[in-house]
Amino acid sequence: MSTITELIHSIPVDPQTGAIAVPIYQTSTFVQEAPGVNKGYDYARSNNPTRAAVEKIIAQLEGGATASAFSSGLAAIDAVIKLLKSGDEIVAVDDIYGGAFRLFNKVYEKFGIKVTYVDTSDLQAVFNAITPATRLIWLETPTNPTLKISDIAAIGRIAKAHNCLFCVDNTFASPVLQKPLELGADLVIHSATKYLGGHSDLIAGVVIAKTAQLGEEIKFYQNACGAILSPFDSFLLIRGIETLHLRVKQHGINAQALAEYLEKHPAVGKVFYPGLPSHPGHELAKQQSKGFGGIISFTLKEDTAEAATAFVTSTNYFKLAESLGGIKSLLCHPAAMTHKSIPAEKRRAAGVSDSLIRLSVGLEETNDLLADLEQAFTKLPVPAHAENVLSA
Ligand SMILES: *Cc1c(COP(=O)(O)O)cnc(C)c1O
Repeated sequence: MSTITELIHSIPVDPQTGAIAVPIYQTSTFVQEAPGVNKGYDYARSNNPTRAAVEKIIAQLEGGATASAFSSGLAAIDAVIKLLKSGDEIVAVDDIYGGAFRLFNKVYEKFGIKVTYVDTSDLQAVFNAITPATRLIWLETPTNPTLKISDIAAIGRIAKAHNCLFCVDNTFASPVLQKPLELGADLVIHSATKYLGGHSDLIAGVVIAKTAQLGEEIKFYQNACGAILSPFDSFLLIRGIETLHLRVKQHGINAQALAEYLEKHPAVGKVFYPGLPSHPGHELAKQQSKGFGGIISFTLKEDTAEAATAFVTSTNYFKLAESLGGIKSLLCHPAAMTHKSIPAEKRRAAGVSDSLIRLSVGLEETNDLLADLEQAFTKLPVPAHAENVLSA
């Protein structure tokens, strides 16, 4: 049986009624026959049948022993960091998701957890950053917004050799393209707000654990700290996951066409997309992933914030918004939006130049998206030197 067939049919038919969709068990508590005698559920923070259904599907998708669903991606990251204790250290990817950076530096540093950021595409740098106190390696691949690719299997070996936990934020790739647990990760997290949900209609996070023991520890923090996914959002997430394979496939087809178009466009500076042979991580991405995803970043030749603003306010189908992974195409201007709080020098050094634009390529017709970009390029201000030529 194919994995897609398995996935679709692992979503249980309701044993009570035969309902083919998973019912939303909107209840806070469950009646017990005698103290401690129940049908597997006692209180809905600890467990809920709708949440249990989505957790089971996601564990299967990523190839883990268990999954735990949280009220956001950040709550999922938070649960993983709670495995550590004061004095422990983390080695993390340098262009990490901004919210994870804030959580590490503004919350966990206070509790005595130190984080070292390194370019994880350089294995020697990862190796050198490890100290006897390092307990966790934190990876994103591809990263946001420059789509940097790191070698999951090699970093997994470094983690093993140093007795560190290894967690991969697999939000950008999704388990359709990349399965970090098979490549040596102990834990995977997702902002299920993005591709897993897929319709820009919920905020959710998940942690998938390779072993049952690690899964139990995460479930302990899920219940002890309480940032659980609601029954309704669990239902929406199941509904999203049912079409994940088809969506991710089409996001990738659209993104490849757009990246190739952008690379040839005279107004474009650099294009960041792992599906392009010009991308430094192309070969590695081909080895460890089944595709290159739906996110593209590019810079303009006229590398100014003004030019980027003109572009991002001129598209029709690409809506200007943060977030990614939904059926509708989105675009954003990281220097003025998601990366605004990073000092300009540091931001530019990380490859996020003033004109960098990030696309989350949706599921519209490829040609409509190409035409939308094409007309937006005509709205760019004419550079000063070109005006001189015209008036001469
Ligand atoms: C959005 C995102 C998160 C945070 O998820 P939320 O659901 O917004 O809390 C974490 N990691 C990555 C890579 C993301 O894109």
